[in-house]
Amino acid sequence: MIRADLHIHTTYSPDASINPKTIVNQLYAHPYIKAIAITDHNTTKGYHKVRKLASPYQDILIIPGIEISTTEGDIIILGVTEPPPKPWTPENIINYTKEQNGIAIAAHPYRTYGLGDLAKNYDFDAIEVLNGISTPQVNKMAQKLAKVMNLPGVAGSDAHRANELWSVYTEVQASLSIDEILKTIKKGLVKVGYARKSIHF
Ligand SMILES: [Zn+2]
Repeated sequence: MIRADLHIHTTYSPDASINPKTIVNQLYAHPYIKAIAITDHNTTKGYHKVRKLASPYQDILIIPGIEISTTEGDIIILGVTEPPPKPWTPENIINYTKEQNGIAIAAHPYRTYGLGDLAKNYDFDAIEVLNGISTPQVNKMAQKLAKVMNLPGVAGSDAHRANELWSVYTEVQASLSIDEILKTIKKGLVKVGYARKSIHF
């Protein structure tokens, strides 16, 4: 079993300030979160940087991802190392992701830039039901959506500042392998939880 933070921004997102080195150092030092997805806005440059910095360490895992600003709202795709071709409609993004054996997640569906109920129209693999910077109320709405759509729920801190890292986690019944983690999320063998806020590094 591994615990992962599946939604993290770096300085490669225009609205975020977390240095890739900080992420690697804190992940390495973290007592139980050992996998992360780097999901910068519309770019994988941050992912490539973090992966390179993390490469000397064997017991942490960096999952490639992007948070795409689609025409209808934000979609997180995991397992994809380059941005998809445009136009960025939800259909195109989801089809591209499936071709690459990745997974597509409706990000914070009921917050600003979320898809809201429109998410029901698309073939998602999972719903982000616990977002570290969303209110409990909108997270609850996302949990209901996952139930209605009969999809797994995942969690990510959506950290844009270093003090927002590691607030929540997704527990996956998989080993430390990208392929296994993504397949297991698709199967729904996942749980989400709040991490302790008082971890000092
Ligand atoms: Zn985000």
